[in-house]
Amino acid sequence: MQPPQRDIRSLLRAEIRQQLAVWREPAYRADQVLDWLYRRRVTSWEGMTNLPKSLRRKLYESYALNGVLLKALQGADDTTRKFLWQLPDGALIESVLISANPALYGEPSDRHTLCVSTQVGCAYGCKFCASGLDGWKRNLGVEEIVNQVLAVERWRGGQADQPAHPQDEAGGVSETRVGRTVIADVRLVNNLVIMGMGEPLANYDHLLKALRILNAPWGGGIGARKITVSTSGLVPQIRRLAEESEQFQLAISLHGATDAVRDRIMPVNRKHPVRELLAACEYYQERKGRMITLEYILLAGVNDASEHMQALAEFATRLSAKVNLIPYNRVAGLPWECPAEPIQEACRTQLQNRGVKVTLRREKGGDIGAACGQLRLRTLRDLGGRPPESV
Ligand code: SAH
Ligand code: SF4
Repeated sequence: MQPPQRDIRSLLRAEIRQQLAVWREPAYRADQVLDWLYRRRVTSWEGMTNLPKSLRRKLYESYALNGVLLKALQGADDTTRKFLWQLPDGALIESVLISANPALYGEPSDRHTLCVSTQVGCAYGCKFCASGLDGWKRNLGVEEIVNQVLAVERWRGGQADQPAHPQDEAGGVSETRVGRTVIADVRLVNNLVIMGMGEPLANYDHLLKALRILNAPWGGGIGARKITVSTSGLVPQIRRLAEESEQFQLAISLHGATDAVRDRIMPVNRKHPVRELLAACEYYQERKGRMITLEYILLAGVNDASEHMQALAEFATRLSAKVNLIPYNRVAGLPWECPAEPIQEACRTQLQNRGVKVTLRREKGGDIGAACGQLRLRTLRDLGGRPPESV
C-alpha cells in the first residue's frame, strides 16, 4: 500500500468532521482527534488511546501524520533558540523561538514568539538575504507550516523534566509518554511571526489555511492579532489579505522607501514599485483598521543616509506606520555591512524628529545567525549541528 499523501494537520475541523461522517463515526470523535493533534500534539496514531482501534486504522490508512526531524538546534545567550528541521523529503527549513522576559530569578517568561518558514528557499532573491541564495525549491504544505509550532512545543515539553527551568511556563508542563510518543500538554507559542524562510504571500493558500488552523480555538489557539505576516511587497496578495475576515497583522519588509534603493536590493520592486506598495498598504489599513509595521534593515552606505530617512519618514507618515529599524546581520559571502552604532542611532533620531514611531531593534539571536535563512545556509555548507533527533 502506498503511504497516504495528505496529512491530517492540513485539514480544518469541518473537513475532519465531514470525513468522520462519511465513515459513520459519531461527531464527537472529531474533537477527540483534534485534541490529540493540537492539545496533546501526538506524533502517532497509536497514541490516540481513546479512539477505537478500527478508527485509528482508518485514519492511518487515509492520512499521513508526518513529523519533522530536528537536524540542528542552536541557542543564543538571550534564550533565543533556532531550530533547523528536516522535512520528509529531506528539505531543510528553520524556525526561531524568541522568549521575552527570560526567566531571570524565577520569573516566568510570558511571551514566546515563534518565527516560522513558509517555503524551502525563496524565489525573490533580495540581495542581502541568505534565504534566497540557493533559489526557491518548493512551497511548504499546510501541515509543514502548522507542524513547526507543534514541534517546538513538543520539544519544549520534552525539556520539561530538565531542572534548569522548572517554572518556565505560566501553566506548567505535564508530560507523559504513550509508547514512543511524547505528549507535551503545554501551549508555549503565543505570538507567531511569519518571517522565516520564504515569501509567505507567494504560498498564499497554504499559508492562510495554516494560519486558520493555528488561530482556531480547536487548533493552535493563537489570537489573529498575535499573528504577523511579513512580506517583501507582493501587492496583489496584500490586497487579497485585506479581504480576509481575520485580523492578521501585516509587516512590510521595506528596506528602502524609494525605487532607487529598493530596485537595487529587492528585485520584487521592479514588478511592484514603491508607489503601488504604498497604495496597497493604505488599502489594507482602510479595510482592517490595523496599523502596519515597516521593517527596515540598515545597510551601510545603501539606505542609511539622511535623504533615505526622509523618504522613509514620508512613507511611514502616510500610513501612520511604526518603523522597526533592524541592524543588518552579516551573511557570509555577501558584501553588505551594518552601519556603526552612532549611525544607527542617528537614523532613529531623524525618524523620531519627524514624528515617526520607531524602534531600533537589538537583533536577538545575532550570535547564532538567527536572521532569515542563515542556519540552513550554514548547514548546507556543511558546518553541521547537533545530531538529528525526532520531534
Ligand atoms: N519574505 C518575507 C518573510 C521573511 S521575513 C519578507 O521578506 O518579509 C525575514 C525578514 O528578515 C525580512 O524583513 C528580511 O528582509 C530580513 N532579513 C533578511 N536577511 C537579513 C539579515 N541578514 N539581517 C537582518 N534581517 C534580514
Ligand atoms: Fe525572500 Fe524575504 Fe529573503 Fe527577500 S527577504 S529573499 S522575500 S525571504
